Amino acid sequence: MTRKYIDCRDFPSDAHCTVAISADDEDELLAVAVQHAVSVHQHTDSPELRQQIRTMIKDGMPAEHALPGAAQSGKDSGRPLPH
Ligand SMILES: [Zn+2]
Repeated sequence: MTRKYIDCRDFPSDAHCTVAISADDEDELLAVAVQHAVSVHQHTDSPELRQQIRTMIKDGMPAEHALPGAAQSGKDSGRPLPH
């Protein structure tokens, strides 16, 4: 069985949400993703929303990091990075 997931980092309108949801079953994943979209992103549960979320479902596992190095910028600002 293929693991399926939705990564909120792929949502173009919600750039700051890094939540990823994964499940074995597409309907199960969709149900949790709809709850997340409604409670966190103030979306309205509708057939259109479910259709949009369904198009975001991907096979496999979410990537551990959005972009290599992006999370570290600003953290070690006092120390020069090695080249
Ligand atoms: Zn989110």
